[in-house]
Amino acid sequence: MTGNLYVVSGPSGAGKGTLLGLVLQRLGPVWLSVSATTRSPRKGEVEGVEYFFLSNEEFDALIAVDGLLEWATVHGERYGTIRKEVEHRLGQGIDVILEIDPQGAFQVRSKLPQAVLIFIAPPSLDALEQRLRIRATEDEASIRRRMATADVEMGLRDRYQAVIVNDVLEDAAEELYRYISGRA
Ligand code: 5GP
Repeated sequence: MTGNLYVVSGPSGAGKGTLLGLVLQRLGPVWLSVSATTRSPRKGEVEGVEYFFLSNEEFDALIAVDGLLEWATVHGERYGTIRKEVEHRLGQGIDVILEIDPQGAFQVRSKLPQAVLIFIAPPSLDALEQRLRIRATEDEASIRRRMATADVEMGLRDRYQAVIVNDVLEDAAEELYRYISGRA
């Protein structure tokens, strides 16, 4: 018995986290993977909840033991999926969701071709910039960097099995829920 593997990507600020939060409550047993990262925690983020916050040396050590299913550098910091946590749950028949960037998504697909790739898009790049500014978690340079990445990421959305445009939150959540529950 193997669980389903869903990979959710989309530009920073497109609302992936909020959408997944709404949908997770309604799905059956499903596990949202907690990634490792070298970036510093934001205010309110808790070790082991949003991420495992690692030093560069600790991240290198995980790579050296093949402990990451995939990893990528995003906005100058490294992020990776902890292999054994994911494989363990899939092996138990538990569905797993990875919220990772497109570089990581395509690495996962090449290793585990059964992975279902879902892209969450903002209604437009302008709308995305507004959201990032309202969220106010990033400084100006970081917003500019995230917008440049978003432009590149939007160009990759056709390589995903599903694209969900997050314009009206409740509608997008319903679409995501139906897509995932319809495949389970
Ligand atoms: P943030 O710093 O805003 O939490 O995340 C920045 C970006 O890193 C997002 O696009 C997010 O999806 C991506 N990300 C988070 N965890 C992982 C991971 O384990 N692997 C990869 N490749 N990207 C990740």
